[in-house]
Amino acid sequence: MSDKKLALVTGASRGIGLAIAQRLSADGYRVIGTATSESGVEALRSTLKTSEKSNEAVVLNIADSEQTEAALKELQSQFGTPDVVVNNAGITRDNLFLRLNEGDWNDVLNTNLTGVFRVCKALSKAMLKNKAGSIINISSIIGTTGNAGQANYAAAKAGLEGFTRSLAQEIASRNITVNCVAPGFIQTDMTDVLPETQKEAILATIPGKRFGRVEDIAGAVAFLASDDARYITGQTIHVNGGMNMG
Ligand code: NAP
Repeated sequence: MSDKKLALVTGASRGIGLAIAQRLSADGYRVIGTATSESGVEALRSTLKTSEKSNEAVVLNIADSEQTEAALKELQSQFGTPDVVVNNAGITRDNLFLRLNEGDWNDVLNTNLTGVFRVCKALSKAMLKNKAGSIINISSIIGTTGNAGQANYAAAKAGLEGFTRSLAQEIASRNITVNCVAPGFIQTDMTDVLPETQKEAILATIPGKRFGRVEDIAGAVAFLASDDARYITGQTIHVNGGMNMG
């Protein structure tokens, strides 16, 4: 078994999660990244150079309670208990409230909020035994500001921040920190689908005058995972170019 610290990053097949996995690997962690499909896992294995760097990639669907429990049990028996857990996986199902159906409400809450609960539930006992660790949840600026067309997503991310503060209080005495990073507008598949006019309108609200890059989020996560952040818990670090300073 490797003597590197072990970091689990959910939703590492692309976007922000991939950048986090690559940054933590560069920082010397052994990284286990997850994707929802076998083909995603194969692609991730080659991106993370798993054989050369002792990283790994596994299938994980946090929307599925049984699969999550089984996959994380197997992960722990194969690789040990993660020192760092980055709950990054997330989805959107945007619609104005009058058109938002219960299916899209439930899908977003089930993945973005209950999915994080499932991952923490499956790993927390072993992490508590280790008396060390960092849990970093990827929230969103929308959890603070709200956004027309994203009532489900805003509710899930605001809930995630409340969950983070509560769990942080429960496990701080075991030397485990729990924090959020809340990205603003970051260029990924999730935001590429937005119409150009909407993107331009958003850009006009960013004092930094550029959209965020995935590396901007990875840097904040790497800090929260590091020894420099051991006395920071229950916090949300906003990384948004000044889009919201509240
Ligand atoms: P993305 O490019 O759409 O990637 C989403 C990732 O989540 C993929 O790796 C995907 O896996 C995974 N995923 C989706 N459903 C999953 C499930 N049920 N179980 C496990 N993994 C699942 O998204 P992103 O923009 O990088 O966003 C990453 C996180 O940042 C999300 O939590 C998002 O809410 C948050 N965020 C993003 C922005 C932004 O501007 N992009 C802003 C604020 C917050 P597959 O590839 O296998 O589908």
